[in-house]
Amino acid sequence: MIKPGSTIGVLGGGQLGRMMALAGRNMGYRFVTLDPTPDSPCGQVADRQIIASFSDLSAAEEFAKSCDVVTYEFENVDAEVAAQLEKTSFVPQGSELLKITQNRIREKSTLHAYGIPVAPFEVIGSEQELSDAVSKLGLPCVMKTATGGYDGKGQWVIRSMEEVPGAFRDLNRTGAELIVEAFIPFEKEISVIAARSTNGETKAFPVAENIHIENILHQSIVPARVTAEQAARAEEIALKIAEALGVVGLVAVEMFLTKDGQIVVNELAPRPHNSGHYTMEACMTSQFEQHIRAVCGLPLGDVTMLSPVVMVNILGEHVEPILESMEKLPVTSKLHLYGKAESKMKRKMGHLNVLASTTEEALEQIEALGIWNKAEVTI
Ligand code: AMP
Repeated sequence: MIKPGSTIGVLGGGQLGRMMALAGRNMGYRFVTLDPTPDSPCGQVADRQIIASFSDLSAAEEFAKSCDVVTYEFENVDAEVAAQLEKTSFVPQGSELLKITQNRIREKSTLHAYGIPVAPFEVIGSEQELSDAVSKLGLPCVMKTATGGYDGKGQWVIRSMEEVPGAFRDLNRTGAELIVEAFIPFEKEISVIAARSTNGETKAFPVAENIHIENILHQSIVPARVTAEQAARAEEIALKIAEALGVVGLVAVEMFLTKDGQIVVNELAPRPHNSGHYTMEACMTSQFEQHIRAVCGLPLGDVTMLSPVVMVNILGEHVEPILESMEKLPVTSKLHLYGKAESKMKRKMGHLNVLASTTEEALEQIEALGIWNKAEVTI
């Protein structure tokens, strides 16, 4: 067990690391972060930031030596760096889950092998293979880069055969391996964050219902508007993944819920997740505290919900309106800003957790603020 008072190293200085450090500091842990940008969101609240590139092996070694345990807040950790960290420090999450989640082909194949439902998919290497795969999977279908994509980047929804050459040319330019998968006509997007500790104890947070705008998470509504049976199944799937993959820390499982009630897993993240920010005030234990408990081998915290909640993301374009609305924010809402120096359009700058007696009420309160244009919402 890594006891409070020890030093936790966080690879990556973004908002997830920041909220991890804020939660861990309450428990008495110390924090060191490694990130190339000075004064990073996590660096601002950590004891120390090592400013270096993520591929700098000697910086990674210095970082690992100064920590009792190392964790990461993003999944694109260089394999060589991960191996170096494992040599010099205790990295309970290991590098196996990282390797799986860094590549959609590995991720989907692994899930399929464990009997977890995923969208039918094909790996493609040429325009002809794409054309054959589209004929096999049917239209529409979704072509994605196997690595490096996020928030819908590196994706193309193919709606007709005529789009095949252009879609292939566009994503082939990235140099990444490509996959194409069947389009799942989902009714809702949901997610579950499961934790598994170094002792093998597991717990899953309540299911979140996620609304995206232009592929970026806009709101998480919890409890999700799904049946009790669907919620139980989603939690079961997340726990099964945590067990099967031997997760240590958190695994966020994004899923599609279809009209006929089927659940299909879309994507995994081996870390705290934007769709789990609601836990900060709405659950007995936040996802960030849970992550720290899991990697330090402490007993996992209770995941009971204390209140219905809607989490709404604050992007660059929402910062000014939020700051101008400070007096209007609901008294049962909690504002989190990440301390990022530069506010850019679509950049995640913070979030607001609105607690209310029902999620409908929380949604109404958010709408009344007039900051997020409802017309933009596409599910
Ligand atoms: P991803 O990067 O895989 O999380 O995909 C980004 C978004 O694209 C998802 O949140 C979905 O809204 C949509 N999407 C991705 N894959 C599919 C699919 N196979 N069927 C339908 N929609 C998809």
